[in-house]
Amino acid sequence: MSFSRFEIPLRTIMTPGPVEVDPRVLQAMSSPILGQFDPAFTAIMNEVMEMLRQLFRTSNRWAYPIDGTSRAGIEALLCSIIEQGDKVLIPIYGRFGYLLAEICERYGAHVYTIECEWGNVFDPKEVINEIKKVRPKIVAIVHGETSTGCMQPLKEIGEFCREMDVLLVVDAVATIGGTEVNVDEWYLDGVIGGTQKCISVPSGMAPITYNDRVEKVVLSRKKVERGIQTDLDRSIPSTGKTIISNYFDLSQLQDYWGPRRLNHHTEATSMLYALREGLRIILGEGLTKRFERHRLHERALVAGIEAMGLSLFGDKKRKLPTVTCVNIPDGVDGESVRRMLLHEFGIEIASSFGPLHGKIWRIGTMGYSCRKENILRLLTALEAVLVYHSVRVNRGEGVQEALKVYVEQSKVMNAGW
Ligand SMILES: *Cc1c(COP(=O)(O)O)cnc(C)c1O
Repeated sequence: MSFSRFEIPLRTIMTPGPVEVDPRVLQAMSSPILGQFDPAFTAIMNEVMEMLRQLFRTSNRWAYPIDGTSRAGIEALLCSIIEQGDKVLIPIYGRFGYLLAEICERYGAHVYTIECEWGNVFDPKEVINEIKKVRPKIVAIVHGETSTGCMQPLKEIGEFCREMDVLLVVDAVATIGGTEVNVDEWYLDGVIGGTQKCISVPSGMAPITYNDRVEKVVLSRKKVERGIQTDLDRSIPSTGKTIISNYFDLSQLQDYWGPRRLNHHTEATSMLYALREGLRIILGEGLTKRFERHRLHERALVAGIEAMGLSLFGDKKRKLPTVTCVNIPDGVDGESVRRMLLHEFGIEIASSFGPLHGKIWRIGTMGYSCRKENILRLLTALEAVLVYHSVRVNRGEGVQEALKVYVEQSKVMNAGW
């Protein structure tokens, strides 16, 4: 049997991940392999840690990637601090809040949840009141809910958690690298990012950071005594309550990333090259400028969508800048529109989950995908596809409004984007 040459279609990816990857990142990934303790490689590990501290805006000692997709980072942080029966409070305002709850339950936490309507976020006071009632050890919350396109303000919650000595763990997978995530200023104790969203690196790593408060819990945890010493480099202290995972045990991972360099897993060489290059590009652009760029393209997209005659889903004041949720007009087959966008125009947008499935489209403006030509191409194609589906739209106006946003901006900047 023979297989055809490896060939993939070229796409414009306007989903909430995975998104397009800068060619410089793809190039970095094709560099030769280095051994995991080669000084040339450990130097890259150290650089990535320093770059991640800057990305997270933190002076934390620990900032490094977990190998695996974003949920690997979430699982690593949570499983390393949850002990059997610990109270964890999870405010849920979309699908990824449920993921946090599920992971905490699996690791034996006593999970308390509060929920608010999809399309909105919590008033921080609501969360604070619940913390007073529940007295949890940990609060886990999503910063940017990709499922609903909403973003939860965190600083007030962070301040209160610190006052009450509660650990605040945040899923910033959809926001890191695309909009502000100020770990130290907002008093976030543990934060998880994702590579395939606004960092614009392929899926497969989850950068995390955590502070001394988290590290103290991690180090005080008693590890599983399995009778067999699987790692010759270390002695496993004997035991009591369990960390179930070896792969996600932060105490071992930080001994691998830190100066002790104790062998754990084999670091994902090519992914680390990719992350280093992705982070270099981000820091080279400058965080503030990068966030402004995401805001600009969001503004152009929203102006275009609304001028076309479509409406946005969710509370606009709480909108996540990197994901725009659009109500599917009545009587329109949302999946048929998505299929036509993909097959005729090579553009991918996303559907949604659970109660929102079939009700909204989700358009990502993340990282390298977040570019003027992508926004204009999408608006043009979406209009054409909607007209084809006999939807009444304001023909031509979407793209014009978006163009106006760009022209205004270039007058302000006196330069094009
Ligand atoms: C994408 C996403 C995840 C899960 O990421 P995976 O890389 O698929 O594991 C978790 N949380 C949020 C908010 C996300 O947007």
